[in-house]
Amino acid sequence: MACLGLITKARFASRKRKVSHMRDLTAARHKMVQQQLVARGISDRAVLSAMREVPRHLFVDQALLDEAYDDNPLPIGNGQTISQPYMVAIMTELLDLTGKERVLEIGTGSGYQAAVLSRLCQWVFTVERIARLSERARKIIQECGYDNITFLVGDGSRGWPDAAPFDGIIVTAGAPKIPNVLVEQLADGGRLVIPVGDRFSQTLKRVVKIDDRTRVENHTGCRFVDLVGTHGWSDH
Ligand code: SAH
Repeated sequence: MACLGLITKARFASRKRKVSHMRDLTAARHKMVQQQLVARGISDRAVLSAMREVPRHLFVDQALLDEAYDDNPLPIGNGQTISQPYMVAIMTELLDLTGKERVLEIGTGSGYQAAVLSRLCQWVFTVERIARLSERARKIIQECGYDNITFLVGDGSRGWPDAAPFDGIIVTAGAPKIPNVLVEQLADGGRLVIPVGDRFSQTLKRVVKIDDRTRVENHTGCRFVDLVGTHGWSDH
């Protein structure tokens, strides 16, 4: 009996530890939104609420769990990274989503950005060139129960012509220039958000397409891994 009591007690203690750990992570996530996003001027309430909701810690390497809500990008394997929370927020905010859009993401990576987008638009199409990352992202997103995302493995620098046009296109890897083929796949009024520059630093650009004309805006400086493909950098 004493022994059973001990086991039950141990189980209870472990469940309690888990619950308090989850509570810590939720607190860390709310703190991230407040200190890294609100404090730096992110004001779209839907974006803030999506980033309060999506469990970023599930998308990072589990060895880096304690750093999941830190103010920086983290490695996700294959030489790639999950973007810094602030960069995810600013790119998402620039897409100006209302909930009805079809959005193309190029560079699925961990799947975190796709998960955030899925809370804010009607459907997300996400392309990743590394099959292992796409598969990993798909599993995590399934666990989260987000069911409005379609995954594709391939060269996203060509866009996704079969699913075009898109109200929003977000490229989460650095490009040498704005690929025309992506602008062509924007719907009227559509927005393309893309880091453009050299391999070491880029400027986050937003292209707005209205009546077949485009307006290009420059936003913040940033540093992304390479967009590798036909309309990106060559694989070296
Ligand atoms: N959005 C991701 C961050 C991805 S890092 C996240 O939330 O975690 C950039 C990703 O772009 C990498 O996974 C890289 O493999 C991918 N990538 C680079 N070039 C690509 C291309 N041409 N098509 C699709 N994915 C590409």
